[in-house]
Amino acid sequence: MTLKFRLLGIFLCFQIFSLFSQDQEKSLLKTFHSISSNDLLNDAAELTSAKYGGRLSGSPGYRNAAQWVADQLKLSGVKPGLSDSTYLQFFPNAYSEVNTPGSVTLMPDKNNKQKDYHFPEDFYPGSNSASGSVTGEIVYVGFGISAPELGYDDYRNLDVKGKILLMETGVPYGVNDSMQAKWERYSYHRYKFLHAHELGAKGLLYVSKIANPNTSFLKGFVYAHISEPVAEELFGGTGRKYAETHASITKSLVPNSFVLNKKIRITASTKYFPDSRSCNVVGIIEGSDPKLREEAIVLGAHLDAVGSPGTLFPGALDNASGSVDILAAAKALATSTVKPARTVIFVFFGGEECGLYGSKKYVDSSVWPKEKVVCMINLDMVGNGTGFYLANGKSYPSILKHFSDANDKYLHRDFNASEVRKSYSRPRTDGAIFEKAGYKVLHLYTSGTVKPVYYHDPMDNTDALTPEIMEDAAKLLYLGVMDLANDKEYIVK
Ligand SMILES: [Zn+2]
Repeated sequence: MTLKFRLLGIFLCFQIFSLFSQDQEKSLLKTFHSISSNDLLNDAAELTSAKYGGRLSGSPGYRNAAQWVADQLKLSGVKPGLSDSTYLQFFPNAYSEVNTPGSVTLMPDKNNKQKDYHFPEDFYPGSNSASGSVTGEIVYVGFGISAPELGYDDYRNLDVKGKILLMETGVPYGVNDSMQAKWERYSYHRYKFLHAHELGAKGLLYVSKIANPNTSFLKGFVYAHISEPVAEELFGGTGRKYAETHASITKSLVPNSFVLNKKIRITASTKYFPDSRSCNVVGIIEGSDPKLREEAIVLGAHLDAVGSPGTLFPGALDNASGSVDILAAAKALATSTVKPARTVIFVFFGGEECGLYGSKKYVDSSVWPKEKVVCMINLDMVGNGTGFYLANGKSYPSILKHFSDANDKYLHRDFNASEVRKSYSRPRTDGAIFEKAGYKVLHLYTSGTVKPVYYHDPMDNTDALTPEIMEDAAKLLYLGVMDLANDKEYIVK
């Protein structure tokens, strides 16, 4: 071989997968090709099956799902990630069991006939509703916020004692700037529930219709989530339109609360478990290099979902998809004959849907020193689409390149990335908790949605998944993490 050709060969080698020899690359590809959509779909079917009850954090169903994940890690040779050689990292997590869908009924009076609303098309039961029945006059209270320092009060001149409130989620201010930061504390469901309860309201119709355990159990406080069309129907005969009223508050930041002159009855059948606990599942592959092994890459996905409020909510896309993507990558990294020089940590979070409990627990504990973590990669809803999107990736080009190279060479999917953008709203993902704590975080999402998305919905089952993109997500993680873990040029700072 002439020098020229040899140089060309070296150059091509650098172009392809710069850190590995050709033999190593062959071996990497062998493991790469062992990752199959069939296995990923089977794992997703396991996690979404009725025996885990929709993986509500704190419940026995979730605990069993967590144990299943820990068993899978153990079988593939991924070691326990905690210092006491266990996989399960526990934290307090109260939860409620919802026994039946309950009911929402418009009560008859001189203007209205009785109307029974239907589950699941019109309403979902409140995941932390008190058990029992409440009947009362409906008062629309906009966003349910009293913020004197912002000159905003949805309850001004209103007496809501003994009333049932019709309320919006979120805040009326939608611009991502420093003003939004001032609204952040009012965006929590728990704030709204507690405030309404303190003002004497006895129940709540919460728009819109998603199952959500990120709420408070309050004694005697019965609530349900209703659809926008039901809210619109309840506005009927008041001379106002629901959608217009909502839009005008958001536009003007002026509250528009009023009494609807209608009575509603909400019933719920629930059981509250205040002293329950939940867990993260933490696994580790220790790095093979005596020095680089002190540095770790963290892969995380929430394992919990919203349980069975009235019926099974399987939580396939959200987030069995991310969990099984990471599980498959973990198996591949553990069985690969090429070893990661740096340490890789896998975290399956509990309590995400209840308020990011699991990621807070992880960040507050010292599983691995923060200053020795290369980055945290969070996966949430990574199982429907044709391409990849690595949020924050552009801000960390020396991390991003390992994943974009793997995609360019072996996966050929659409691949996009964005820069870190400061968010002024409340944290909504486990990754956001790591970001707040000062970690470099990349969020892996899929792009080019090909199936309907059923968010916190009973239809979020394995039919809502695209197994091919899940296979490729696991492959992308396997190659990208392996490449990053072996990049001696990379300096953690
Ligand atoms: Zn999620």
